[in-house]
Amino acid sequence: MLVFKFGGASVKDAEGIINLASVVEKYNANQLLIVVSAMGKTTNALEKLTKAYVDRDEEVHTIFDDIKKYHYDIIEELFDKNDQVFDDVANTFVEIDWVIEEEPHDDYDFIYDQIVSIGELVSTRIVNAYLNKAGLKSQWLDVRGYIHTDNTYREGVVQWDKTRTAISTEIPALLNKGIVVTQGFLGGTSENFTTTLGREGSDYTASIFASCLGAESVTTWKDVPGVLNADPKFFTDTIKFDELSYSEAIEMTYYGATVIHPKTIKPLQNAKIPLLVKPFTKPDEPGTVIKENGKNVFLKPVIIIKQNQVLLSLSAKDYSFISENHLSGIFGMFAASHAKVNMMQTSALSFTVCIDFSEDRFRRLLKQLNEEFNVKYNEGLTLITVRHYSTESLNELKAGKIILMEQLSRNTIQMVVK
Ligand code: ASP
Ligand code: MG
Repeated sequence: MLVFKFGGASVKDAEGIINLASVVEKYNANQLLIVVSAMGKTTNALEKLTKAYVDRDEEVHTIFDDIKKYHYDIIEELFDKNDQVFDDVANTFVEIDWVIEEEPHDDYDFIYDQIVSIGELVSTRIVNAYLNKAGLKSQWLDVRGYIHTDNTYREGVVQWDKTRTAISTEIPALLNKGIVVTQGFLGGTSENFTTTLGREGSDYTASIFASCLGAESVTTWKDVPGVLNADPKFFTDTIKFDELSYSEAIEMTYYGATVIHPKTIKPLQNAKIPLLVKPFTKPDEPGTVIKENGKNVFLKPVIIIKQNQVLLSLSAKDYSFISENHLSGIFGMFAASHAKVNMMQTSALSFTVCIDFSEDRFRRLLKQLNEEFNVKYNEGLTLITVRHYSTESLNELKAGKIILMEQLSRNTIQMVVK
């Protein structure tokens, strides 16, 4: 069996959904499970909606109307007026109405998951309906009954045993009846609440299904030709890798390469399932194959850019040395506020760390840190990681930048720049 994953960019408009159906038709797979993300930038819009609702900002209604209009415009292009899909989409959106009619619950991350998940619930309704309309027999599956997580909202931790049992006992029979279309990024708790697996988590969903079903391969369909040595949004003259090993792919995603979600590779590596990264507009191209013993050929260094970083420097209020006890306290606070540490350095009197900026989480963290430490920080920074670097490539990258922190190992350099 095959697992396909279509990300937001591939289903951002009616044309994208028509293209998805043509890719599926072309493969004519015997057994196929399709994981779909929210359409276009819907997840970002739903994040804004959540914030407006919690802030009791009237804008919540206009944001919601825009999201609905974006989806209705697409389905009007794809379906006849009286198609069942209009009711299915309306019945899904109404869940947001139910949430925002009430006073906000005090757990932000919980509310976030109940609202933001609607993006995938709607996109899969639309994709499933269109596949059926195109004569490709397809079934809509609510992933929340299969991917079981704990109740860490916004970062659900997959309960593998329960998940594996649910998927492997029920999905094979469905795959014999036709294509299965399900939501990326979502999970469900034992109390039937919705969780999300972390931004861009749909790749991980595909990998969970593939692992539990013993898939032949997973294909993630992208708006790029495959895995590139750098993000084409920032660099010209990028080159594509034909093959990569699982370990190199894990390293790249760990440092922030956004082409694949970091948690995706491990389950595939354990089950030796290859991951194909292919362009959705040119399905015949080979893309990149990530597999056991994949050959890593570095004609150019790998450059990974992570924006929206904060550099925090902490020192003890009594000017004492930064000790193991301080560090363990600091890491406890980071873990509790889900701060993602990307790079760190210690000196006698201070501890400096570069983390991803996420507004609400950062404010919470700062409040805690301030109680015990003198805290200084810089926002809006960029973390550049270069793997398999050469001296020329580094000089080129560093030109004209202010480097606030730098670290070098045999094949990787990281720098935080302004
Ligand atoms: N829709 C979610 C996001 O944009 C999950 C995904 O696209 O993988 O983060
Ligand atoms: Mg997305």
